[in-house]
Amino acid sequence: METKAFSEVLIHWYQTKKRDLPWRKTKDPYKIWLSEVILQQTRVAQGSPYYEKFVENYPTVKDLANADEQEVLRLWQGLGYYSRARNMYATAKIVVNDFDGIFPNNFEGLLKLKGIGPYTAAAIASFAFDEKVAVVDGNVFRVLARVFGIETDISSHEAKSVFSKLANELISTESPSTYNQAIMEFGAIHCTPANPDCMFCVFAESCIANAKGMQAILPIKSKKVKVRNRFFDYFVIEQNGNFLMHQRPEGDIWTGLNDFYLVENEEKLSELDEINDDFLQETLTKAIIKGHSENIKHMLTHQRIEARFWHIVLNEKVSAPAGYAFYSLDEVELLPKPILIEKYLKSFWFSSKK
Ligand code: SF4
Repeated sequence: METKAFSEVLIHWYQTKKRDLPWRKTKDPYKIWLSEVILQQTRVAQGSPYYEKFVENYPTVKDLANADEQEVLRLWQGLGYYSRARNMYATAKIVVNDFDGIFPNNFEGLLKLKGIGPYTAAAIASFAFDEKVAVVDGNVFRVLARVFGIETDISSHEAKSVFSKLANELISTESPSTYNQAIMEFGAIHCTPANPDCMFCVFAESCIANAKGMQAILPIKSKKVKVRNRFFDYFVIEQNGNFLMHQRPEGDIWTGLNDFYLVENEEKLSELDEINDDFLQETLTKAIIKGHSENIKHMLTHQRIEARFWHIVLNEKVSAPAGYAFYSLDEVELLPKPILIEKYLKSFWFSSKK
């Protein structure tokens, strides 16, 4: 298929089928960047309310940079992949401190910002400044692989350059912004991973995958990521109606979010006396064990967590270990927390005990 014909057909499709999304109405690079960060690995329906909340609470990059990090994480709660929120916050500070609060107005300049990769830089450069630089993400891999019958493995090293080269040949010279929006939208709502609507597709006659019945095969992705199983025993340690929590350190999931005292086990959840943890064993001699929750399963992209929550009520004063503090239930509610902790609290505390 000719490159010009491809982009014209695609843009025409977009103009008639596109969804009305709030970030499509702005040329403000800050808001475009916010939407792109929020929508990474998140569906539009889930991400939209977060976009609205962030724009309302932090209308400019300066507002975001001057916010409290815990407040930002609290607002992000429920979206997952919290490193995105922390990186976004760090990038906002860089834009304010090093660039006087003004985003660079081109692809190369944007790429120099820590936390902005080629995809996001291309999205901002084209949407905000109409620069002719193609976005390449999962949607683009899929659409191009199918329409042009590209069998390059998208998890291979050369995939990025193969698809980038083609995408930059296809991008419209007159309207790079609309072209980029169009291909992403087409991949998101029409040429979808599982059920592409080939019957009513504008590329039905020219698409190689459709002609050869290769929709389920393309794009080719060979590497399977191994899922790690983890087993958590959480200790909800209560002292005079306050609960022991801490902010999770760097180096693992949920950095910067708050959770209870955690003991992680190698294989399956152990009985309490098998747990090798000095603070906990000492604490248990001064406490009543009220019971534990059922096992709660929680899936992350590459991790399967099975957690159990023990409710422990202290009958003697215990000093909080380093990094921990006791919080009232109202304070606990306000802290940014992983969704697993939120689920537990909603089931066992906020609904029944308040
Ligand atoms: S014909 Fe099917 S596979 Fe090809 S672009 Fe259209 S929806 Fe995608």
